[in-house]
Amino acid sequence: MQDASSSSTTQQQVGDSPSIPIYDVLVLGSGPAGLTAALFAARAGLSVLVLGSDAGSSLSEALVLDNFPGFGSNLKDGNEKNGPSAKEEEEDEFGGLAWLKLTKRKAMKAGANFAQAGLLASNLQSVSWLSQEENSGGGTSSIFQIDIDNIAPNSNNNHAQRPLHVHGRSVILAMGATGQKLGMDASLENELWGKSMHSCAVCDGSSYVDQIVVVVGGGDAAVDAALLLARYAKRVIVVHRRLEFRASHQQHVQMLQTMDNIQIATPFVIKEYHVVRRQQGDQKTQRQTILTGIRIQNTETNQEQNVRCDGIFVMIGSKPNTEWLLLKENNNNGSTKLGLQLDSNGYILLDKSQRNAYSKATAVAGIFVAGEATDQMYRQAITAAAEGAQAAMDAERWLRTQGYSTASKDARRTLSQQQQQQQAIPLQTIPRPTQDHQSLRGKSSDQEGAATGEQQRKAQEEEPGQQAPQQQRETPAITCDVAQVACLDQVVHEHPLVVFSTPRCPQCEALKETLALEGLSGDHPNVNIINVSKLGTSKVKKMRVTLKEMTGRKSFPAVFLGGKWIAGEAQTRIWQKEGKLREMLVEAKVYDVDEATTVVDDGQEEL
Ligand SMILES: Cc1cc2nc3c(=O)[nH]c(=O)nc-3n(C[C@H](O)[C@H](O)[C@H](O)COP(=O)(O)OP(=O)(O)OC[C@H]3O[C@@H](n4cnc5c(N)ncnc54)[C@H](O)[C@@H]3O)c2cc1C
Repeated sequence: MQDASSSSTTQQQVGDSPSIPIYDVLVLGSGPAGLTAALFAARAGLSVLVLGSDAGSSLSEALVLDNFPGFGSNLKDGNEKNGPSAKEEEEDEFGGLAWLKLTKRKAMKAGANFAQAGLLASNLQSVSWLSQEENSGGGTSSIFQIDIDNIAPNSNNNHAQRPLHVHGRSVILAMGATGQKLGMDASLENELWGKSMHSCAVCDGSSYVDQIVVVVGGGDAAVDAALLLARYAKRVIVVHRRLEFRASHQQHVQMLQTMDNIQIATPFVIKEYHVVRRQQGDQKTQRQTILTGIRIQNTETNQEQNVRCDGIFVMIGSKPNTEWLLLKENNNNGSTKLGLQLDSNGYILLDKSQRNAYSKATAVAGIFVAGEATDQMYRQAITAAAEGAQAAMDAERWLRTQGYSTASKDARRTLSQQQQQQQAIPLQTIPRPTQDHQSLRGKSSDQEGAATGEQQRKAQEEEPGQQAPQQQRETPAITCDVAQVACLDQVVHEHPLVVFSTPRCPQCEALKETLALEGLSGDHPNVNIINVSKLGTSKVKKMRVTLKEMTGRKSFPAVFLGGKWIAGEAQTRIWQKEGKLREMLVEAKVYDVDEATTVVDDGQEEL
């Protein structure tokens, strides 16, 4: 095992930094692996900071959490005489997003701290500039530094251009893996992505009522997506390049083969997308690209066939979120930061020589790994969670062997609070009451951006949900028929920023996280986030048609700025990363320039 301090990576000599907070464990990832690691580490009395987000976890795409004892779909097996009532069945249905939120609350209650959702690690190095005194936990090994990305580079605010750093004595890598695109015609795929190409059947499936959709892939995700889509679509065509499905649930594969409205095309691959381009609205420059079908080819006979379809769900596997661990200058030969070992697909390798002492150790002492960032085999929430627990236990034991004092839980909590008061990383804030909105203008990062772990915990204890209902701004009642263009138009003009969203939709959660990075939530007086499911199912369906008519896109979230539709989640995120979103928000008068600047000040100082 290689010690981080001996790596060739540049080491920083910063001199005196008396107030630098050092966490015992930095957890990179907020999916089942990261959340469970955070829970275990915090309960072991360690100070913990977690990066990542619920919406970034692949589990957020699971409509119902299956294969997780104690959670998931109803228990009725058809043979029970007294099966659960419809209401009980509904209560039993427990989705992935609900599991993530529940486990995060548990981890917070145990004392773990969470950075504002959406801030991601972009660099890893070790630093050796802390004196023994500053490194107050004792111990001799070097400290890890994680640089955080996602700060708008184009902002006028100087602070925003500086990177954020966090420091820890150990690191747990739990960044998971992301679903891949087909990569056949990248620019066309980007144009269609989120409009008629998707990776989440749960979020976008209901847009395809009585339409024809294609599912690409032959694994669990593809089979699940096809079965779900068959509930809405007139026809589902599963295109898979092999004859056999590699899905682990053979029962689901059999269901797939027997469903009337599912057609299986194997062994076929997509060769071409068929689209038409139409002018959108009254703006001549805006053109809409509409998918009308695909051309598929039999991989054995080379025979080709045109297939009409309205949407494509790409479910062809994942890529671990480890690219940022590669040294840029050596991207091709796979050299990594600090000498971490990755396999040819980018999965982080365990150091098997340490199996008896630390089962989740990597090649770098003090860095552990859990979940789909390392596991290509089991790829389930429960296995990722179990690995998270193992990694946390390994980290705790390793810290002890390095001579770090194992203070009592309460002492650690106090240390953790002190650390947070000294730092400026935007920790996840508690929802603010309306009247507090003004505080965004004047408060320091300590007061506003960096709620202490204790504050986070108290808020969670007082109100276990994410939002404190008594503090939320009342959403103005919609008095007209929002499924009519005139009404929808009126509603989107009532606030500078209006978002139509649905619950259990990871993209909607991700959009809220993106807005939070700009200091905005539904509590802001200029922002109206409308949960369309409250309008009733039939209204939602009609509203999709109206949205499609107005914007060319019928899925949620739908973002309207200054009375005009601007985008869904993916494009909004891109604008946020590029620093353009803030300018657009200022231009649409969601907040004024002063406020926008102060919001950045709130949490984006260098540590
Ligand atoms: C459609 C679908 C349905 C599924 N259904 C089920 C099911 O019913 N039951 C089941 O057991 N499993 C299910 N799975 C599989 C399950 O979701 C995964 O096995 C599990 O989520 C993997 O957990 P993880 O913690 O390793 O990664 P993830 O859950 O993917 O979490 C990764 C985390 O890392 C964060 N992250 C990414 N990059 C960085 C970075 N640079 N810095 C910091 N953080 C970062 C992300 O924001 C996220 O929080 C399903 C998967 C899909 C796609």
